[in-house]
Amino acid sequence: MIELKDVSKTYTRKGISNEALKGINLKVEKGDIFGVIGYSGAGKSTLIRLVNYLERPTKGQVFVDGHDLGEYSVKDLRAAKKNIGMIFQHFNLLESKKVFDNVAIPLILLKKNKNEIRQRVLELLEFVGLGDKAGSYPSELSGGQKQRVGIARALASNPSILLCDEATSALDPQTTRSILQLLKKINAEYNITVMIITHEMSVIQEICNKVAVMEEGRIIEQGSVLEVFGHP
Ligand code: ADP
Ligand code: ADP
Repeated sequence: MIELKDVSKTYTRKGISNEALKGINLKVEKGDIFGVIGYSGAGKSTLIRLVNYLERPTKGQVFVDGHDLGEYSVKDLRAAKKNIGMIFQHFNLLESKKVFDNVAIPLILLKKNKNEIRQRVLELLEFVGLGDKAGSYPSELSGGQKQRVGIARALASNPSILLCDEATSALDPQTTRSILQLLKKINAEYNITVMIITHEMSVIQEICNKVAVMEEGRIIEQGSVLEVFGHP
């Protein structure tokens, strides 16, 4: 489903090189809830940005569904992107737009017709538990509700992969738990592969079946949560 083969990524800025990833090998299978844990600066965001086509590896290959991303044209990449949804630590909602319109964005980009958009958006909002918030602005919502909008938007294009970048780091423990339960439901009901990057062990233990531990651009351990941490 997602595979990185000997991937390295070096950022070069003003002549200074920063090796963010060093020889990463990683395999995420269909249906996994795969956690990547590590301290700040370990290379987690870089890793997820490679999977999401936002960055290209300096060396090595990234495969999604068996396709080498390095061999895609710009047009192929655009098509492939709708297969990947992403949610963020600070939700990245458009504050000037209502909840309905935030969730509609990917569907508008896909040139869906108005009725289709309306039906799909309302169905998604219902699914994430915000059936009554379509007409609200993000500023009227709690953090947990904002992340639910982010999730609805990420699912709009029917992706088979959901990438979560510190998606619960800005939330309190109880809200975190409810968002993690929602991710679990998405994984189970829609068979969406979930990849989570986090610095919080509790997130890994609560929902992940597999984990990779990162340190200074390398994966230092990888396997089932049971294998790596000894207990679920
Ligand atoms: P994490 O998500 O684990 O905090 P990052 O992938 O953000 O790690 O960062 C890994 C390393 O790469 C850090 O040293 C960081 O400073 C560097 N880095 C990340 N993004 C960039 C960038 N766009 N340009 C230069 N260096 C970067
Ligand atoms: P138009 O006026 O262009 O025909 P719509 O009638 O589809 O557009 O929607 C007008 C606005 O109402 C949208 O921009 C959106 O903010 C909001 N909206 C649309 N559908 C709903 C809905 N079911 N619930 C709440 N707000 C909605």
